Amino acid sequence: SKYTKNDIISMIEENNVRFIRLQFTDIFGTLKNVAITTSQIEKALDNKCMFDGSSIEGFVRIEESDMYLRPDFDSFVIFPWHTQHGRVARLICDIYTPDGNPFEGDPRYVLKRALKEAADMGYTFNVGPECEFFLFNTDEFGHPTTITHDTAGYFDLGPSDLGESARRDICLNLEEMGFEIEASHHEVAIAQHEIDFKYSEALSAADNILTFKMVVKSCADSHGLCATFMPKPVYGRDGSGMHTNMSLFKNGENVFYDPKSESGLSQIAYHFIAGIMKHIKGMCALTNPLVNSYKRLVPGYEAPCNIAWTLSNRSALIRVPATRGLGTRVELRNPDSACNPYLELAVLLAAGLDGIKNNLTPPDAVTTNIYDIDEQERKAAGIDALPSDLKNAIDEMKADPFIREVLGDHVFNKYVEAKEKEWYEYSTTVTQWELDQYLNKF
Ligand code: ADP
Ligand code: MG
Ligand code: MG
Ligand code: MG
Ligand code: MG
Repeated sequence: SKYTKNDIISMIEENNVRFIRLQFTDIFGTLKNVAITTSQIEKALDNKCMFDGSSIEGFVRIEESDMYLRPDFDSFVIFPWHTQHGRVARLICDIYTPDGNPFEGDPRYVLKRALKEAADMGYTFNVGPECEFFLFNTDEFGHPTTITHDTAGYFDLGPSDLGESARRDICLNLEEMGFEIEASHHEVAIAQHEIDFKYSEALSAADNILTFKMVVKSCADSHGLCATFMPKPVYGRDGSGMHTNMSLFKNGENVFYDPKSESGLSQIAYHFIAGIMKHIKGMCALTNPLVNSYKRLVPGYEAPCNIAWTLSNRSALIRVPATRGLGTRVELRNPDSACNPYLELAVLLAAGLDGIKNNLTPPDAVTTNIYDIDEQERKAAGIDALPSDLKNAIDEMKADPFIREVLGDHVFNKYVEAKEKEWYEYSTTVTQWELDQYLNKF
């Protein structure tokens, strides 16, 4: 690994670090942390820090609640901002049980297990996410709203882009934390932004997504704005996605690239696409985890609703951008940033590998804009639809035994249980829409 225990201890001393956050996530991808002072760092680096797992959603029962945190030394980062009490650093941790085994409910472990399978086949899984988000105003109490004074559109420049200074601040902070920012721009909708950072091996990509969201939220806050990754915050405007760009490398070469084939894509790339398409319905409850996620996956906003792939247009589920060579990649367009990136990448990788192992062939690439075809034409063309809501997605997840296998029983059961509860609460709530439509009329 990059750092030794002594490296970390001396970086802490040299930079006046006073607090260290030991970070991990619950099964929904919510960042959790146990903060320690510098006096405890040796203990932490020796894997002796414990926490009570029973208080974390989707973890364990009270009787078996003691969990150990094992810091990943390479994840050591000192946050760029200075506080009154010195600086703060973080270590991302794996969770272990008292008997020294990885905890089955740790999402990072679920991804590591899937990555092990890829490594056994000689593959490195590279991932580049495109996280979109909104910057909204806060109200007089500092609470988030969906109000904005921004009037800019896609790739517009200031001064109409009020979020620009917040976005610059976000980029600079991320760079100080070791991110390579490839691009940042205003997105299609007013107040919507995208910042792209360079792809990396999947485990660090998942770690980066969580760090990214945290930095975006805290920078927005210091500019008096509120950042949200909610998939569809405003009806009638574009939602925020997290396009997930994926490739497999072997010995430093991109195995999705084949200069000898007409498309420039290898057979492995086709198998990978086929594997994703085979399992996509079962994976949707993970890639698009909220009731609200499905309000983004509607026609008309460059968000997919059908299971098709393409070499060109942006209405399909999977797009293969024109770049070849090292940049050859498969872009999955349905995921949103509300997902737990560890679980998302675990199932996507496993699905792709399933395609490779079983030599699956994808259907022909579509060449038309599939928003333009109606239901009957779609069915006649053999193009299936994505689940229309969270309930359908949960049912599809339960119907694909492969998903349970990748997640393991613990995560699968806890996840389904929580999502079914979420759906029940939502579907029995009387909404403002219903009152507006029915109260006076009936
Ligand atoms: P788009 O054209 O869809 O807007 P972007 O330029 O916004 O795409 O983002 C492309 C993402 O794909 C970046 O995060 C980039 O690092 C990533 N990427 C580039 N090459 C690869 C690759 N070989 N494997 C995975 N991701 C890659
Ligand atoms: Mg983009
Ligand atoms: Mg781009
Ligand atoms: Mg975008
Ligand atoms: Mg994209």
